[in-house]
Amino acid sequence: MKVYNSLTRREEDFAPIENNLVRMYTCGPTVYNFAHIGNFRAYTFEDILRRVIEFNGWQVKQVMNLTDVDDKTIRGANSSNIPLRDYTKTYKDAFFADLATLNIEKAEVYPAATDHIAEMIALVSTLVEKGVAYKSEDGSVYFNVRKFPSYGKLAHIDFDNQRTGSRCAADEYDKENVGDFALWKAWEESDGPVWWDSPWGRGRPGWHIECSAMSMKYLGETFDLHTGGIDNLFPHHENEIAQAEAATGKEFVKTWMHCAHLKVNGEKMSKSLGNFFTLRDLLDKGWSGREIRYVLINAHYRAGLNFAFTALEDARKSLSRIDACVEKATDGEAPAWALKHLDDFTNAVNDDLNIPKAFASLFELVREANSKGAEGTLGVFKRMDEVLGVIFFGKKEKAEIPAEIVEMLEKRAEARKAKDWALSDKLRDDIAALGWLVKDSKEGQTCTPKA
Ligand code: AMP
Ligand code: ZN
Repeated sequence: MKVYNSLTRREEDFAPIENNLVRMYTCGPTVYNFAHIGNFRAYTFEDILRRVIEFNGWQVKQVMNLTDVDDKTIRGANSSNIPLRDYTKTYKDAFFADLATLNIEKAEVYPAATDHIAEMIALVSTLVEKGVAYKSEDGSVYFNVRKFPSYGKLAHIDFDNQRTGSRCAADEYDKENVGDFALWKAWEESDGPVWWDSPWGRGRPGWHIECSAMSMKYLGETFDLHTGGIDNLFPHHENEIAQAEAATGKEFVKTWMHCAHLKVNGEKMSKSLGNFFTLRDLLDKGWSGREIRYVLINAHYRAGLNFAFTALEDARKSLSRIDACVEKATDGEAPAWALKHLDDFTNAVNDDLNIPKAFASLFELVREANSKGAEGTLGVFKRMDEVLGVIFFGKKEKAEIPAEIVEMLEKRAEARKAKDWALSDKLRDDIAALGWLVKDSKEGQTCTPKA
């Protein structure tokens, strides 16, 4: 398996550092709002990466953080007068439902920042003791970038001419504003009830320290893979490296991978530009989770991808073409020509996750199965779908219903027993919003994926 490492700017052979286990950290959502499909481009890219690693026979331990304290979450909670924890819970729950809709495999750990304040304080303390961080007049703590000579190695920028000793209190800034960045932020009036005690007084962690502390807690001081959208590369990931390596003196991460942005009319899809669709927006318009997944994964992850509804229409057609063939496919010994397409598929996914090329092999398989007969091809389709996660085998076997939906179905069965039809209808709609169709019969309810 080869992947492009943002740190070395080269394609490299990939294999786990230790044994059979790949330890992987993916920067997760800031839970102040519903994630948009641009965010889900990053999460589906990471899902594909994870699946390809598993496809190669390795195990994965993936950690994805939930940023549930930062400028945006505090602003949201305080302006709506809701405790921070309650405010972020709504969006955490929504995020997990959306992951299920997009058939994204679950990470092994989803640590929330507010549950790891002690680890962050410990890491900041180490940096202060080592003399690479200092307390400012207002009780905040800053990382001194001049004390970490390799600062800039990920973003490949020589900061020598720019290191003016200026400070940047905001979590996000651009390369022109490089300076000492906040590890710990002193409490301010606008933070309201949100603060923790620390050796430097009341305050809260900066965003960057969160990921260094939680990744090392769950994955060790040196681990295999760290990923995110390309906007995470600077300053977030650069700062993560500085914090971790200055504290441990060891290499933090071997391979860094970043996906390009999902765009709308040539601009990054983002909350601030207002040019975004949430997953829910698209489900409400009648598109299914797997159609949306198909569009998000069917471009090379490092290439720009412009969002358009015509792509969803194409996805619908392509998927029904695959479905029609898979319906005819049978178990048994795979013919040599089918195995050849599986070989091509394998080479494509192992070539820096070339999913468009992998899809081309899948369509070659469909074309040839349609002309030569689909006997014995089912196993090949299934093997390919271990990576793609978009094929519907529902007509052949019961599709696996996610645990979350099963729970909702149980609640609905209870509601119906209690003749609470309003709740029953609401649950049916909620389940439909997640891409599953509920039908009632004498035998009870049946649930199938919306094709
Ligand atoms: P945020 O919640 O803004 O921290 O973003 C969560 C993840 O989504 C990060 O990995 C971002 O890099 C990624 N992301 C944000 N916008 C886009 C976009 N338009 N296309 C691809 N990835 C994005
Ligand atoms: Zn992060």
